[in-house]
Amino acid sequence: MADCEKLWENVLNVVKSSTNEAIFQSFFSVVHPLLFDDDKFIIKVDSPLVADWIKQKYLSIMEDSLSDSVGTKIQLIIHCKGLQEEKNYTALKTKTPKKNNKINITNLNSNFLFSNFIIGNSNQMAHAAAYACGQNPGHSYNPLFIYGGVGLGKTHLMQAIGNAAFTKDNNLNILYISSERFVNQFIEAIQTKTLAKFREYYRSNIDVLLVDDIQFLSKKTGMQEEFFHTFNTLHNEGKQIIMTSDKSPQELKGIENRLVNRFEWGMVVDIQSPDFETRVAIINKKLEQYGQKFDEDICFYLANKVRDDVRKIEGAIIKLLGYASIQNEPVNLEMAKECLKGYVSSHTVTLELIQKSVGEFFDLRINDLKSSRRPKSISYPRQLAMYLCRNMTNNSLTEIAQSFGGKDHTTVLYACRKIEDKKNKDEILRQQLLTLEKNIIGSVKMM
Ligand code: ADP
Ligand code: MG
Repeated sequence: MADCEKLWENVLNVVKSSTNEAIFQSFFSVVHPLLFDDDKFIIKVDSPLVADWIKQKYLSIMEDSLSDSVGTKIQLIIHCKGLQEEKNYTALKTKTPKKNNKINITNLNSNFLFSNFIIGNSNQMAHAAAYACGQNPGHSYNPLFIYGGVGLGKTHLMQAIGNAAFTKDNNLNILYISSERFVNQFIEAIQTKTLAKFREYYRSNIDVLLVDDIQFLSKKTGMQEEFFHTFNTLHNEGKQIIMTSDKSPQELKGIENRLVNRFEWGMVVDIQSPDFETRVAIINKKLEQYGQKFDEDICFYLANKVRDDVRKIEGAIIKLLGYASIQNEPVNLEMAKECLKGYVSSHTVTLELIQKSVGEFFDLRINDLKSSRRPKSISYPRQLAMYLCRNMTNNSLTEIAQSFGGKDHTTVLYACRKIEDKKNKDEILRQQLLTLEKNIIGSVKMM
């Protein structure tokens, strides 16, 4: 009988060659072979989202690969936990008392919809998870935790979940709130001695709670305690909780472990900077919303020029349209170049550039930084470089790890934590970081 692990390795090779590396890494890291028995091959998938995705996209190539290797038809079975949780939710949901003082406050912005959200490699996993939550709140991924850099569409996706859920069932009470507002309301409740009302409001009337920019709770222990109990109450009753943050739960600083732990209970997905094709699609979609159209060369120019985040892309389009209307001429390429000439994309800080600067500073070869060699003279600059990559670019942990000779993302996470911890205690390190940042920015300006 063919060896289960060996067969699985073949399957992975086939899948790898038919998809891109980032997707492969994010999806297949949670898939493990369980059993090969006669004509069945069973895999275990730790995430229902990934299980769905694999079923839709890869089932047939995987079955073909298995059948080819074994020489007879093999059926692939995907085993996924998580469904029993759903049962608990349903049981609890039926026990939920009837709603009394209904919240019809939704704070939803009807412009943020799934239909005007452009899907690309950088956000497809987040989109898929968000979409599932919108279709079936409380029963898909709970909580859903979306993280990523500024202007990459976190609030848009979160609001789209609320809008979709509300469209499906407008009896649902859906509340969108920024963490900052949540904190302010809490403080006000303490001051006006209306904490009981505040609690009642958040814990008994909400079906879908959308909390934006949860990193704002950092170091606010009283508020974290409050949110912890709100979270538990809602979650126990099968109410959907969605949170966004600028960092992954593991990277959040100043948030209690028990909360971080809950953030990771359901699904954690990240959004990265859009790639070129996605930026072009976003530009076209935005133009469509404004009733405008640009020639392809202008779109490509814009997509190359403005890379950081989608908000900046929108800003550049608006600036260009304004410029054209003042000139009273249709937008052309020359005009676009003139109008956006002062635009410097911070995206020009690349992983390579950081590695080069750190290498020069410590008189090391880039290959040393990418190696697995452990002497402190190499491992310390490597950790500094990883830290700078994380803080000066929008690249994901996995991308950074890849650029350091294909390491694991946890190595980068460890390096970032270590440098962050030392930064406040070690003056030399702090100075080195400042100098390196200055050097890196300096070389971007020269480019
Ligand atoms: P974040 O909350 O991550 O800082 P937002 O959700 O506020 O970012 O997005 C910033 C702007 O960019 C919004 O106007 C949003 O509609 C737009 N945007 C972001 N990503 C996309 C996308 N993939 N498709 C269309 N618009 C997007
Ligand atoms: Mg936001």
